[in-house]
Amino acid sequence: MKKLMAALVLGASLMAKPTASQVPCLTPLTLDDVVEILGEYSVLHQELPNVASGILYGMVNYNTKKIYLNTDQDRTEMRDTLLHELYHVKARKNYCGNSEDEVDLLTKKTIGELYIKPQVP
Ligand SMILES: [Zn+2]
Repeated sequence: MKKLMAALVLGASLMAKPTASQVPCLTPLTLDDVVEILGEYSVLHQELPNVASGILYGMVNYNTKKIYLNTDQDRTEMRDTLLHELYHVKARKNYCGNSEDEVDLLTKKTIGELYIKPQVP
C-alpha cells in the first residue's frame, strides 16, 4: 500500500519546538484522543486536487481546524486516511512536530491492531 497522504502545516510558527525529552512523543491514539480531536476538528469529505507527487488522500488545516478526506478513494482508504490525519492532529496537539514517518508508523500499527485479524490455522 503505497500512497501519498499529506498534512498541510499552516501556522507552523505557533508550534513549540520539540525537546529531547519529548522524543518520541507521539503515542497510539486512544478513544479519548479521538473524541477530543473530533470535538474540535471538522471532517470534510471532498475532492482534493492532485499534487505533483500523486494523489492527495487527506490533509489537515490546523488554523481552521478541518480535516479533509479525498472522496476519490475507497472506504478502507478513507478510514486509513482519517486515522493518519488524526495522528497528525495528535502530533500537533502534543507538540511532536510533523514527523510523517512517525505518523505513518503509528497509523499502520493501529490499522494492524484494529482491522487485520490474525489467521486461525
Ligand atoms: Zn501525513
